[in-house]
Formats: sequence, structure tokens, C-alpha cells
Amino acid sequence: MADRVAGPEIERLIQLLARLPGLGPRSARRAALHLMRKREDLLAPLADAMRVARDRIVTCSACGNLDTLDPCTICRDPRRDPTTLVVVETVSDLWALERAGVVRGRYHVLGGVLSPLDGVGPDDLNLHTLVEHVAADGVAEVVLAVNATVDGQTTAHFVTDLLSHLDIKVTRLAHGVPVGGELDYLDEGTLAAAMRSRTAF
Ligand code: ZN
Repeated sequence: MADRVAGPEIERLIQLLARLPGLGPRSARRAALHLMRKREDLLAPLADAMRVARDRIVTCSACGNLDTLDPCTICRDPRRDPTTLVVVETVSDLWALERAGVVRGRYHVLGGVLSPLDGVGPDDLNLHTLVEHVAADGVAEVVLAVNATVDGQTTAHFVTDLLSHLDIKVTRLAHGVPVGGELDYLDEGTLAAAMRSRTAF
């Protein structure tokens, strides 16, 4: 047991922290030690916040976001434009768009992408609720903000077909040169997409 540095309670804390995305065993040990050193300033409030989160987190029945309110804070916000609905794969994509502050409308979280190889079909995603969402709420434009991956694009085509009988505009995010990007470093697929998606200057 040469690798054991602490009692079972601390080992359990480290093991749980190591399961967080981006934290391996080494970072988990460092984080656990930091929490133990700052147990009044950080560990206690963190434990309280986690307890509250555990008891109150719900999935928004309207959009699929995670919040302590249902409908979520975004769906409740009267300043949001109800005619624009942004379709994302995951809650983390929703949060990324919110951080950028570029969406004035509301969202719909699919909960993943279609992936025949991984056995993910239409019934595994929030697709039926998307059609209800669009039809019921007076949505005029659906923005497909899915990843620029093969599965993401397959999903985008599927959603477009699914909504084709409704009188709405379906758009997708542009593909191309990232802000601050240098052409010489881009792959051919990105360059080709950027050329196809060129806009008037
Ligand atoms: Zn919501």
C-alpha cells in the first residue's frame, strides 16, 4: 500500500475528485489537499453548495437545461426572444453560447447527437419534444448550433427534415476560419468550409 497517503475518508475524497472531467489522480490529490487546508473557507461552503445543488437541480422540462428552477432561468426570462430557438447538443454547449452572450433567444438541448456507430438513434435524443417546442411556442427560426463533426452534421440534417413540414427558417452556425486563426494552420476541410461559407465584406 505504498501509494496510500491518507485515511480512507480522504482517499475517497481523492477518488471522487479524480472522476471530475479534467482532473486525473494527481490533480485530484492536489485539489483534496487544497480543500483540506482551506476547510473553513472552501471545503465547508463547497460541501454546503453541493448539498443544495444535489437537492435542487432539475432538468428544465421546456429546454433540457440544468438549473434549480423548472422552467429554467433562461426559459423564464421575459427579455428572451421566443421566436428564435437555438438547438444544442449538450448543456455545456448552451453554457458556452451563454458565456459568449450571443443568443437572444431560447434553447433546446438534444442531449447528444445521432451516432449510428455508437447505437444512438432518434429515440435517444430529445427530438419529439423539439417538434412540440417549435410548434407550440411560435418559433420562427431554429438555429442548429451543433458541433461541426460528422455526427453533429448528421443530426443537423435529421432535425432539418424533422422540421420541414413547419413554416420556419432553419439556419446553422457558420463553419470556417476561427477568430484569430491563421490560414496556414487550418486543415483543408475547414478552409473548404470557410470558402463555401464566405460572406460579403
Ligand atoms: Zn429551460
